[in-house]
Amino acid sequence: MLDADFFRRWMTATAASVDREADRLTALDSPIGDADHGSNLQRGFRAVRAELEKEAPDTPGGVLTLAGRHLISTVGGASGPLYGTLLRRTGKALGDDAEVSEEQFTQALRAGVDGVMKLGGASAGDKTMIDALVPAVEALGDGFAAARSAAEEGAEATTPLQARKGRASYLGERSKGHQDPGATSSALLIAALVAAAEG
Ligand code: ADP
Ligand code: MG
Ligand code: MG
Repeated sequence: MLDADFFRRWMTATAASVDREADRLTALDSPIGDADHGSNLQRGFRAVRAELEKEAPDTPGGVLTLAGRHLISTVGGASGPLYGTLLRRTGKALGDDAEVSEEQFTQALRAGVDGVMKLGGASAGDKTMIDALVPAVEALGDGFAAARSAAEEGAEATTPLQARKGRASYLGERSKGHQDPGATSSALLIAALVAAAEG
C-alpha cells in the first residue's frame, strides 16, 4: 500500500530531479520552444516542496491535490496548468483514503492523464508530455520500474515527430528531430516513483 509519505517522497524526488535536469529541460525547449521549461518546472516543484514541508497533508489525495494547486499558481507556461491538472485530478481520484493500492494509483493516474488530454486537446503522437504519460500508465501495472522505462522510451520516441500541440507546433515540419521537453520532464516525474518506492 502507498501512504501520504510515499506521495510526499514522490514530489520531493521529482523536485530534486527537476533541479538536477533543469538546464537540460530548458535546452530541449530552446530549438522548439522558448527555452523556459526547466526554469518553469523548477519554480513550480520548489514551491510544491516548500508547501509540503509546511502543510504535510496526511492522505495521498491531499498531497497530490496540494501539489497540483501550487503548480498551477506558480508555473506560468503551458506546462503549469497541465501538470497541475495531472496531479490534482490524480489526487481527487484517490479520494480521502489514508493508504491506496498500486492498482488504485494506476486508475487515478489514468484519470489524471485523461484530464490533461481534455485540457490540452493532445493525444498520443502529438509530441507532448502525453507521449510519455500514456505509456507510463499502461506499464504501471507491471511496476514502477516498468513505468519508468515506458516513459523514457515514450519521451525518446517524440524526437522524429512533428508537433501538433503547444508552442512547438508553430514550427511545423521544423519541429521534427528534437525530443519534446514536456515528454522528457514527464519521464522524470515517472522515474521519481522508483526513487520514492526505494524510500
Ligand atoms: P510554454 O510552452 O508555455 O513555454 P513549457 O515550456 O513549460 O511551456 O512546456 C512546454 C511543454 O508543454 C511541451 O514540451 C509539451 O510537452 C507540453 N505541452 C504544450 N502544450 C500541450 C498540450 N496542449 N497538451 C499537452 N502537453 C502540452
Ligand atoms: Mg517553454
Ligand atoms: Mg514559456
